[in-house]
Order: sequence, then structure tokens, then C-alpha cells
Amino acid sequence: MMPTYRTVACPGNSSGVIKFTNCLLVKGDSLVDGDLWVSSMTGKILNGQEILYEHRTAPEKIVNLGGRILSPGLIDTQLNGAYGFDFSVIPEEATAAYGKGVLRVNRSLVATGVTSYLPTLTSQPPEVYQIALPFLGPSGNARDASYGSESLGAHCEGPFLNPTKNGIHNASVLQEPINGLSDLANCYGPTNLQTPSPIKLITLAPELPGALSSIQALTANGIHVSIGHSEASYEEAKAGVKAGASMITHLFNAMRPLHHRNPGIFGLLGTASHSIRKPYFGIIADGIHLHPTSIKIAWNAHPDGLILVTDAMRLAGMPDGTYDWTNGSRIIKNGALLTLEENGKIAGSSIQLVDCVTNFLNWTGASVPEALKAVTETPAKMLGLQDVKGTLNEGADADMVVLDLQEAVGGEKKLVVDEVWKFGVKVFDRI
Ligand code: ZN
Repeated sequence: MMPTYRTVACPGNSSGVIKFTNCLLVKGDSLVDGDLWVSSMTGKILNGQEILYEHRTAPEKIVNLGGRILSPGLIDTQLNGAYGFDFSVIPEEATAAYGKGVLRVNRSLVATGVTSYLPTLTSQPPEVYQIALPFLGPSGNARDASYGSESLGAHCEGPFLNPTKNGIHNASVLQEPINGLSDLANCYGPTNLQTPSPIKLITLAPELPGALSSIQALTANGIHVSIGHSEASYEEAKAGVKAGASMITHLFNAMRPLHHRNPGIFGLLGTASHSIRKPYFGIIADGIHLHPTSIKIAWNAHPDGLILVTDAMRLAGMPDGTYDWTNGSRIIKNGALLTLEENGKIAGSSIQLVDCVTNFLNWTGASVPEALKAVTETPAKMLGLQDVKGTLNEGADADMVVLDLQEAVGGEKKLVVDEVWKFGVKVFDRI
């Protein structure tokens, strides 16, 4: 039976206070029956008890969710583009068109439940970073819900990567950070490394000359570092973490596979926690990049470190069909699967983050809150934003997703985004 969804407005009350009722709140590893109070004025989550009993404020609106799940908004830490726009391509006409393209992505992306994210640049020549980065910094979106999804800062995936693990990155633009931070500043632009930096996360290969001192300098500046596109041995990867790296970019992809005598980067997940802090790690659960069992092994090894990412590119959100790509080649999009027309090779991902959560649920046997944690609480913690994003605790931003959990006859589960709220304002409603 369909539950009844009801929104009750209380006339004459303009407090901006909204009370969600009859909902399952995502709190840690549990789903909890309860109410949630938010303010559409401040865009923050409120303390319901305090509002009701101390301030005697009645809600302006009561939203009955009919028993559905109310989760913090989803966070994607690796998104290369979507809706036909690629963050790594500067339009020829004018850089103003770039800013417009970013805004268009933000407004469409929010309807998928992704309320904040890291726009991600693949390896590029310096001029691309220097034009693009000022548009990609943490905006707070002026705390205006009409701007859509919010950038938490850019993710620069490269160009300080190992050429032997370049994947789809253009090997000719890859660099070595031999002179440490000054090489990074020359590449990304000196002002883009100064605080406050538009860059939130940099993926680099720790075995490159100068990489360890670069990691130390970046993390001292508040920029997070992730290990990726790397040939690192276990020891080299560990040295990267000791220098300050706190994340692994798309674990298993573009790195050495696990070897029993040298477990490589993957080995970091098995390290005793007193020796180093186990890093967070990105997982692309699109059914193409990784075998479900590999995902389950990684999750069992370090459940609190797993972060689901889409790594999606500009064809995400576009209809199925054949699209022009670079150098005259073409890509066929069939659902989430993208293949090169000429040879059928995998050409990236176009999955939505909520579908990664659904896959993760079905493949690992995780509970719904455990799976949602991998796109809310865990990425927020990795970015040092655990009090602001990825939580329904008082004082956090009122970025929320209403999810319907559907179950097929065979027991397969599916999470569907019914509503999205940004800064306490409803910005998407499926029904
Ligand atoms: Zn990559």
C-alpha cells in the first residue's frame, strides 16, 4: 500500500521552521523513528526540543514522510562532469561559458540527491587548472538553494601521476613534483594553493620524486591528499600516508593488484591501526570497474573508510545513444555503461551515486544506513566537514534526501530519490 505523504502548512506562521515527521532518520549505523526540525531561514538543522519547549515556536510546515527514509544529502568526491559538461574542458568561446556550465551541472545534479560534491579535473596542462579552478572552489552556493548542488572544492586528479598507471589520462601532460610545492604552484597556479584554496583534494602518486614533501606541504595548507594512479609498493604507499595522505583514489583501479608478497596500496587497509591511520578509499560500484566481491573484501577490511564515488563523466545524465568523443572516436552510452564505438573498450562511468548505493546494498549485505554512510558521513569526515555535511545532527546544513526503499520479489533492493532538500528548501520532488 502506498503511504500517505502530507505537507501541512500552518497559516500565519512565518518562522521558516519545518518539522519532518513519520520518517526513518539515518543516524550512524541505524535507522531511527523520529522527527527532524530544520530552518529554511538559516538552512540548518535545529534542536527540536529547544525550539518547541524553550522558544515555543510552532513549525510553519509539517512534512509527513509516510515512513520513508530521511538521509543527509549525498556527497560525491569524484565527478568529472555530467549533463554534457566536462569540468576539464574550457569552452572556446569564453570562460564565462565555463561558469554557466558549472551552474547548469549544479542545478541538474541536485535532483539526483547529490547535494554537495567535488568537481573533479583529470590531468591537464597548467592553463586549464588556472582557468577552471577559480570557478570550482567551495561556494557555499551563497547558501541559496536555487543554485543547486554545492561544490565543496575541486578534486585535482593529477597531473602528478605515474605514467604507467595513467588510465584514460593523457600521459603527455603528466608531471613529476621534483621541486615539491613550487612545481605544484606552477601547475595549479600559485594563488590556487593559498588559503582559502579552491582545491579540496589532490590525487597524486607517492612514489614520484618530490611527492612526499609535496604531500606534507599540501596537508599543512589544509588540502587533502589521495593516493592514486600509482605504481606504489606497500612501503611507498605507507610512506605517503605517513607524510599525510588520507585517502586512496578508486581503490583497485589504476594501481598494482594485490600481490601476496607485496600487497601494494591495497595493503594499507590491512595495516595495524597503531602503525598508521588507515586511509579512506574511493570505490566505483558501477558493476563495470570492480567485481562485487572485491568491494566486499575492501569493505570488510575497513568499513569506516569506504567512500562510494561515481567517477562519472560528462555523459552522465544524458540519454542513451552515440556521442562524439575526442580524436574522432565515438562513445556508445547504454545505461551506465560507456564503450568506445571502435573497439568496445570501457570508456568511463555514467552512473548516479544513489545507484552505487543500491549496488553496494545488494552486493555486500550492508544495511541501508551502513550503505548511506559511504556517501554521507564517511566522505564528510574525510574532508573534515563532519559537523556541517553528511549528518542530521543539530547545527549541520539542512541538506537532505527523502528515499524510498523498494524491494523486488527476489529480495533485490533499490533506493529511489523521492525528494531533495538543500539548505532547508525543497528543490526536487519526484511525485
Ligand atoms: Zn582515475
